[in-house]
Formats: sequence, C-alpha cells, structure tokens
Amino acid sequence: MKKKAILVLLITAYLLSVFSINVFASDFPDMPRTHKNYVAVSDLVKKGVIAGYDDGYFRPEREITRTEFCALMARTLGYSKDTYVFENVPFTDVKEGYWGEAYISFCYERGLVNGMGNDEFWPAAKVTMEQAVKMAVCAIGKEDEALRINGEKWYDGYVETAKAYNLYYKVDGETGVPAIRSDIAQVVYNMIETGLMEEEDEKDSEDEIIIDDSTEDAEDDTEAEEEDPIPPEIRVAYKEKNFLNVKTILIDAGHNYSGRDTGAENRELGLKEEDITWRIADKLRDCLEDMGYNVVMTRDKITDSIANTSVVESLQARVDLGHQALADLFISIHCNAGGGSGTEVYCFSRKSYAGTFANIVQKNIVTNTELYDRGVKTANFFVIQNTLMPAILIETGFIDNLKDAKILASEEGQYSIAQAVANAVAEYDSMENSDFVQSIAEEISTEE
Ligand SMILES: [Zn+2]
Repeated sequence: MKKKAILVLLITAYLLSVFSINVFASDFPDMPRTHKNYVAVSDLVKKGVIAGYDDGYFRPEREITRTEFCALMARTLGYSKDTYVFENVPFTDVKEGYWGEAYISFCYERGLVNGMGNDEFWPAAKVTMEQAVKMAVCAIGKEDEALRINGEKWYDGYVETAKAYNLYYKVDGETGVPAIRSDIAQVVYNMIETGLMEEEDEKDSEDEIIIDDSTEDAEDDTEAEEEDPIPPEIRVAYKEKNFLNVKTILIDAGHNYSGRDTGAENRELGLKEEDITWRIADKLRDCLEDMGYNVVMTRDKITDSIANTSVVESLQARVDLGHQALADLFISIHCNAGGGSGTEVYCFSRKSYAGTFANIVQKNIVTNTELYDRGVKTANFFVIQNTLMPAILIETGFIDNLKDAKILASEEGQYSIAQAVANAVAEYDSMENSDFVQSIAEEISTEE
C-alpha cells in the first residue's frame, strides 16, 4: 500500500512538472491560474511582450512608467530594434540616449502618445489607467469614435469606446490613478483580441533599412556604440528604480582644485568656488551619513581634481561616478558669479523627480539661510542633462557678492546650506507616489 501510494505521488509529481513546464511557461508564484488576468499575462509572456522579474515573480500589483508602457505597446505592435529607425522625439524631457527613446518615438509616430503639453513627455511618471486605455483605443484605430463622444473629462470618450470594444474585460483599474501590471496586461491582451490592430507592414519596415554601403554602416554602428558612456546593465538597473526611494546619493563638489575645470573666484576676499563647493559638499556628506544614507563623493578631499584633462571629461567623470554607484540622486554644488545675489537650483525639467526635488531644496535653503530666493530654473547643464537619476545643480550663492560671499565662506553658512539640502533629501525620500503626482499637478497649475 505504501509503495503504491508513493508511486502514485511520484507519477503525479512527474506529470505536474512536465505539465507546468510545457504548458504553462509563465508560472509566477504571484500569478496563480486562479488570477483573473492569468490567461492574458501568460499569453503576453509567450509573445515576449511582457516579462516577469529576475526573481521569478510577476508583481501584478506593480505600477509601470509611461515609457515602460510605450515599450510594451511598441513590442505588441511589431516594433523591432533591428529595423526601426527613429528620429529624436520632440519632448524636452526625453534625453538623447534614454533607454526608452525608440519606444516613445515608435508610439509617437503612430499617434498613440502626444506628450503632456509644453513639449514634455514625463517618461518616468506612472502610466494611469486612462492614458493606457487611450493608447489602446488609438492602437485599434478607434480614436475618431472616442473623440466624437463628449464628456466631462478628456478621457471619457476613450473609456466609453474602450468599453464598447471590450478593452475593459477583466480590468478593474479606475481612472485617475496609476494602472497596475495585471490590468495593463489584460488591456493589451483585450486589444490584441479585437483583431483590429494595425500590425506593422513588413514591406514598410523593409523599406526603412536602406543599405548604401555595408562598410559605412559597420563604422556607424561602432561609433554609435562608443558614444554611449552608460553600460547597458546600468541602464537596465535604472529602468527598475523607484526614484522616490533614496538610498545612495552622489554629491558633486563643483569644479576641480587645479587644472582646467577650476571655478569662479573672489580675489578681494581670497575665495575660490572649488574650495567652497567642497566644504559644503563635505558637510552635506556628514549630514546625510548621519541620517543613514550612502554617499558617494566626486571629490573626496579638498585638493582632489577629477579627470583633469578637459572640462567635459571632468563633467563626464562625475556623471559616470553617479551611474556606477547606481545613485538615486545627483546633487551638484556650485557658486554663482557675474553680478547678482541669492540661491537658485537647476533641474533639467520641472515636471520630473528632479524638479520636485529641486523645489524642496530651494525652499529649504531659502528658509535656512539669509540667501535671496532666485527660484528653481531649468537648464541643460551637462551633469543634469546626462544623468539617469534625478539630478540637480545648486548655485548656492554669488561668490562675487559681499553678502553672499560672507555666508558662503563661513562655517556656519556652509553648514546651514548643507543641513537644508540634507533635510530636502529626507523630505523628498519620504514622499509617496501620490505626493509626487500632486507636486507635478501643482507645477502645471503654477505655469498657467
Ligand atoms: Zn560652478
């Protein structure tokens, strides 16, 4: 009896294992067959459109960014890395070389996305249910129908049209909040099921490859590969990051102690920008380490110079250090010069994690010191433009203004600035995604 029972068990176990390996290629522990979106997820995994995480989980409750959704849609619509040739997209916050650039371009070209206004795309913002539904409605060629429906909200027509074409089948997500992976997979699956999608015409994509001279092409490829200073595994790591969860901070003490990239000077008072930036950076390091953060410095000692051959190389080396450390925030510290007074904080885009962080830093420095409030500004400075993490550049004060210079040169002033920035990190780090969405909404209403 016992032997028989064991044999039955063994056969059952064997059959189950064969069954699950061959039939259910996508068995995620958190995506059981009883899950309402199981079929949709399994199908998309098989098609290579969506994947689980390296640890074998699918994380159905997880939210995804607008860029990740573009990637998903592009793959569903037949995007191919080898044949798709893209132009730069017209969004100021999609930096050249950004991992999702081609996907966004692909969706933009097909009229599935058109940004958030003001030439911005918000690549790292979470995709909301209505945004996902809108893209799906456009992808099945039914946007005209959606636009004919008048509603209170911009997306009412899209939602109604989506329901009419069954895109909401087994989807629970509500509008106005970020959509979760299992719902998104279901929307995409439903979209495929309509059979209305305009698949990529194979002839068209063949036309896109124009081979003039194979040697020239090969050279171009090598050049393009050399141009990206960010290793692919680092791009992948950043893709998975939650930027509201801060662990590691890169502190960049602006300029070098000597060589080409030295900073501004106040000869009368004997002050050098590169010394002041390091002194503030060093105090900021202490504050942040006391709070339990992991800190990486571009200049460890005041006499350090980094990649001293040219200014660009020095700046690139600072950015590289941040990426290598997989830093969650990049804080570059500088002093202003050239007539004026007060503090200003720069970010690449206001409606971004960096913009939100910049606002907190600016507010804190102005509150903590006697420095005049010049506000948060945008610019395409090297270190804030070429970084994958939220990056800001602080022009703490004017080295050539007497009032500012006194603050910048004093231990007390330096400490006040450092403490203000450290508190800003903690404040930013404690934000929930809903706070971030709210801060972006406020940013938009201030602009109007
Ligand atoms: Zn500077």
